[in-house]
Amino acid sequence: MTKWNAAFPDKLKEVIKETDEMIAPKLAEIDEQVLDNQNKVLEAFRKESIDESSLLGTTGYGDDDRGRDQLEDVYCDVFKTEAALVRPQFVSGTHTLATALFGMLRPGDNLLYVTGEPYDTMQEVIGTAGNKKGSLIDYKIGFDYVEMDGDKVNFDLMKKKIKEQNPKVIAIQRSRGYSVRKSLTVKEIAEIIKQIKTVSDAIIFVDNCYGEFSETVEPTEVGADIMAGSLIKNAGGGLAKVGGYIVGKKDLVELASYCLTAPGIGTSEGPTVGRLSEMFQGFFLAPRVTGNAIKGAIFEAGIFEKLGLNVSPKWNDDRTDLIQTIEFNDPDKMVKFAEMVQKFSPIDSNVLPVPSEMSGYEDKVVMAAGTFVSGASIEFSCDGPMRAPYIIYIQGGLTFEHVKIAIANACKELFFK
Ligand SMILES: *Cc1c(COP(=O)(O)O)cnc(C)c1O
Repeated sequence: MTKWNAAFPDKLKEVIKETDEMIAPKLAEIDEQVLDNQNKVLEAFRKESIDESSLLGTTGYGDDDRGRDQLEDVYCDVFKTEAALVRPQFVSGTHTLATALFGMLRPGDNLLYVTGEPYDTMQEVIGTAGNKKGSLIDYKIGFDYVEMDGDKVNFDLMKKKIKEQNPKVIAIQRSRGYSVRKSLTVKEIAEIIKQIKTVSDAIIFVDNCYGEFSETVEPTEVGADIMAGSLIKNAGGGLAKVGGYIVGKKDLVELASYCLTAPGIGTSEGPTVGRLSEMFQGFFLAPRVTGNAIKGAIFEAGIFEKLGLNVSPKWNDDRTDLIQTIEFNDPDKMVKFAEMVQKFSPIDSNVLPVPSEMSGYEDKVVMAAGTFVSGASIEFSCDGPMRAPYIIYIQGGLTFEHVKIAIANACKELFFK
């Protein structure tokens, strides 16, 4: 009988065994969390009486798409919001976030990010990077951000800037993106919102990308007015082929809908063209799939820490998203790791990742992604800029077992040759 790790050296088998034993209680915690989130999603499906015909969808204008409306009600139930816009017409997370922001902001208004510099692609939406054409700044919307104080939001500076700028929208980015700061837990987001409320009644917007179901409470339950994310990350459960979601107060979601479609049309049109079934099923699977990815990240943190590398978060840290970073301090090891992730992917396993120039990045970037849905980062993938200290960002994994097999083989190649 073959065993997945039969050809591993005994030393590596021992490290894997020690890692498994060390992280077991943490994995059990994640299983408990998956149970709560699965229950929440199942309750929503039952409440909205989803039936076989809900999954069919519409074509053309998409008038009276009952299933689409029900899916949006399911999202409202899970995220505890008045309204939701969940559509396959959103081409990416960036598009979804941009739609929400363009919906709310008018010339002369200000936008303030309180969690440091926004995610790379959002900088082009805002107009602080790229050619600025069509950006928020091009539309005479003011923008500023509050520099983080290490892993914490700088409340004093935040309040000073809020008083000076009187922003219409205050943005919080939950996940770290490609920054060195830690991701913000929902508890921390609750405190940020509480502090904002002492000085401002601005609209509070949360970029929830990578965050969904990685805790049992979501930012909309602790005071966020509007929140958005991608369906080819957590919320699509690995099954959604495209799409995004916006959830929040009814008037704000409606404004976003005028940007996605057109004023006068709003939420009433938008065909689901055969995508509804996977959007429903993906959302149903999302708690479990997100749990698998987080368990994979805990294994990564545990084993690489045992092998003497700096990792963030640590295996036993509280988590609020999927991202795991490993510091290789060695360009060759970093590239080799990406090669192994690619080699142990179900799709494109024969492709060789090569560090390359990428628009918007000063250094070359190495990436590995062998995914069923192109670019889907709920699936196991990694990337990072080729600069000291050579940090790779790992995310996703549809099954914990896939991540474990791939990471163990990467460790063998990197440290046991
Ligand atoms: C992924 C991500 C985005 C952008 O989503 P895309 O689908 O890549 O356009 C924005 N913000 C954060 C925090 C993200 O993780």
